[in-house]
Amino acid sequence: MIHDVWTYCLADSEFVQLQVAVQPGYSFQWSGRKDPRSREWPQRLHAAFRNYTWKWPGKRVTALASPPEGSSVGQEVDLALAVGVLLGSNQWGAPRPGGFFMFGRVDLRGAVIPVPVRQFPALPDSVEWGCVPHKIKEDFFAENPRIVGVSNLLEVESFVVHGLPPLSQGHIKVQNAVSFPVLRLSSDMQRMLEVVAAGRHPAFWMGPPGTGKTRIARVLWQIDQQLQALPGPFVEPIPPRSSRIGIERWLQDARGGHLFLDEIGEWPLKAIEAMRKPLERSIQELYYSAASNPCPCGFSGHAKRACHCSSARVEAYQRRFSPPWLERFHVIGHVHSEEDEQSVIWPEFLQRVRWARERQINRAGCFNAQLEDELLWSSLCLQSRAAADVRAWQQRQGMGERAVQSVCKVARTLADLEGLQWVQARHIHQAVQYHWSSQGITSRSYP
Ligand SMILES: [Zn+2]
Repeated sequence: MIHDVWTYCLADSEFVQLQVAVQPGYSFQWSGRKDPRSREWPQRLHAAFRNYTWKWPGKRVTALASPPEGSSVGQEVDLALAVGVLLGSNQWGAPRPGGFFMFGRVDLRGAVIPVPVRQFPALPDSVEWGCVPHKIKEDFFAENPRIVGVSNLLEVESFVVHGLPPLSQGHIKVQNAVSFPVLRLSSDMQRMLEVVAAGRHPAFWMGPPGTGKTRIARVLWQIDQQLQALPGPFVEPIPPRSSRIGIERWLQDARGGHLFLDEIGEWPLKAIEAMRKPLERSIQELYYSAASNPCPCGFSGHAKRACHCSSARVEAYQRRFSPPWLERFHVIGHVHSEEDEQSVIWPEFLQRVRWARERQINRAGCFNAQLEDELLWSSLCLQSRAAADVRAWQQRQGMGERAVQSVCKVARTLADLEGLQWVQARHIHQAVQYHWSSQGITSRSYP
């Protein structure tokens, strides 16, 4: 596949057309405008691609700059070459029609960064759209809506393939102000936390006392603070003793923040049920999560410590969580201390969450947990096997439509974390594992 990409040679202040061919074979060949630095390109771009699960193809890549004579080009054509290679190797979908312009450096993390430019002549006539670093957009293309400012390769893909313009710079930004606690979690648990944080999926944490359920909830709130998703407060109501609870007040207080319902198993049954509808309503306005012991003593299902409750008591306790109530949560996580615990590496964790969130915002304008109705189905991009598998699961388990939607939303986030456009069957299977119906909760009583 051969793609033409317009770019710009800084040394000559002139536009250059880069023709990129990806064909069987194994080498990288750079033709015209000889530049010894061109040998670095495959390694450098490969590193950048890996951050998004793409790669430099194991094929012969030929890049031809025209006109071929003139000064050599440098890192200012990184983005043009990257786009040509990703399109040519079919790792991206087909580009939008029309000639396009790509200009900017790409660092090893896949960020698109500006290079100093003194002037830009008028764009060639055949250029219909393009991507440049934010700084270049502001300085030279502020009046041109077809040239967008981008901060990383994911945003470039969204624009090149789907025509989705990136958010203005600084909408989602990692700051350095918040410091995160040392949190030791098993690799499964880290993964689950990443999914919950990335899609902002309501989560219900079950586990014995002292395993850090509250800490996890607080960390999720800190992540929102850090990524400036929801700057509102962390609200943790005192577990009520009667069914008269101030739901509206809590929702009001937690608006734009995180409402955390702790020790929910100890709440009066009427109070638990009274939360159901308000929580459903509030998902567009705040984030909520809950935590509970799995049984009165707290150790049911624990690998090492014995639960002293009779099975009838465990059942009675867990039956307090009705399926419609559990359905308010996209992920049920069992938190206990396990063997393979490791500290969460926050900078990398946050980077992955941020990228996954950016994909969601660029695609649908909201987080996956908030997808509803038409927007949900239009942004899911389920591969046919994935769609068949989720329906088969629904039939087998007798699940309602809400359960299907919840599993699909989580699967969408799993695909976003991998930088994939299409939700695959394995994402559905993983999402089903997080659903309450896979958690061995004894409740079976659909009202
Ligand atoms: Zn127990």
